[in-house]
Amino acid sequence: MPRIDGSRLIADLKRMADFGRYKTGVHRPTFSPQDVESRHWLAGRMLEAGLEPTIDGIGNVIGRRPGDGPRLLLGSHTDTQPQGGWLDGVMGVLYGVEVARAFQEDPATAGVGVEVASWADEESHYMSFLGSKSFVGELSEADIDATRNRDDGTPLRDALERAGFAGRPRIAVDEQRYVGYLEAHIEQGGYLESERRRIGVVTSIVGIHGYRIRFSGVQNHAGTTPMPIRRDAGVALVRFCTTLYERFAAVSGPRSVWTVGRITLEPGAPAIIPGAAEMLLQFRDGEPATMTRFEETLYRLVEETNAAGPCPVAVEVLSRTPPTIMDARFQAALAASAETHVPGLWMSMPSAAGHDAQIVAHRLPAGMMFVPSIGGVSHHYSEDTDEADIILGCQVFADACWRILAAARG
Ligand SMILES: [Zn+2]
Repeated sequence: MPRIDGSRLIADLKRMADFGRYKTGVHRPTFSPQDVESRHWLAGRMLEAGLEPTIDGIGNVIGRRPGDGPRLLLGSHTDTQPQGGWLDGVMGVLYGVEVARAFQEDPATAGVGVEVASWADEESHYMSFLGSKSFVGELSEADIDATRNRDDGTPLRDALERAGFAGRPRIAVDEQRYVGYLEAHIEQGGYLESERRRIGVVTSIVGIHGYRIRFSGVQNHAGTTPMPIRRDAGVALVRFCTTLYERFAAVSGPRSVWTVGRITLEPGAPAIIPGAAEMLLQFRDGEPATMTRFEETLYRLVEETNAAGPCPVAVEVLSRTPPTIMDARFQAALAASAETHVPGLWMSMPSAAGHDAQIVAHRLPAGMMFVPSIGGVSHHYSEDTDEADIILGCQVFADACWRILAAARG
């Protein structure tokens, strides 16, 4: 089994955090000068690990292994949230580089097909999962033309030009080349910590549904309109909302979450009965059946509300991403590896956040592994993970890669 070098891994993670350092974290938005610099540095580290690195036309850094035989693609992202953490995404990419080095150094595994990718713009400065979408063939040239930076409006074409990546070919997935895709990531939540487990084997990446729910009432004078004849859209919304929360609780799974993130009353004045009211609803779960139950519950309540009156309600679907189930063989390999290194101290769990693995899974079998996040904090510069957990996670990950590749080689 390949042995990873923990101190070399930590040194690489710390070096990467120099690109755009912000307090104890990192500010490295996609295609910022610091991000572009870090991509070139990463390509250099891939080269030292015996890989052939390419930065492609969308900014993906992909290190390919020369030779024949089955290959496993390891990856995540190296762009960060604004004033984000030093491990979100980066850890998974540098795990890949360390695993490639460990395989190369062991005569028993030298030349075994581990390849590494850093997907561009997972964090959505231009488009969420930009790089992994390009890799799986879900990003057209017209999409690139139409995409701008969400903060300053810079066209993506200009950013690619400035970064020096414009005009390069984009690398597309070759399904024959790979056994599959494996991604390691910090948990970004607090389940592993509260359960006192050191490794999470991801079962699925949560699905997310978003809806705009709009109630139509009759706007009128708040002093002269008697209560019995009012058609108050605000009251209709609040009743609907509390009933929905109760009914969702009755059909939810252990990790289900649902949120009304915005409520607006129109026109929104103290002396006016609201003529319209709107709420934005989102729910997430890792189980397709639970997502279906939520959806059915929502539409049943809409029907009941419309039948009962007095304010009609209409639903608009804003997003509808199904859960992505992780490959069963990859889950088993990660679990077996975790059980070898930390018996009883790992758990299976869904991912409550989105990851590139859910995009790559459209074309390749995919798996994911988590390490604990201290205090469940992420998307903040204070994000951190115990050094011992970072190192353990990489060894478990390397072991799982070997199990998967050894099985594929027969
Ligand atoms: Zn991430």
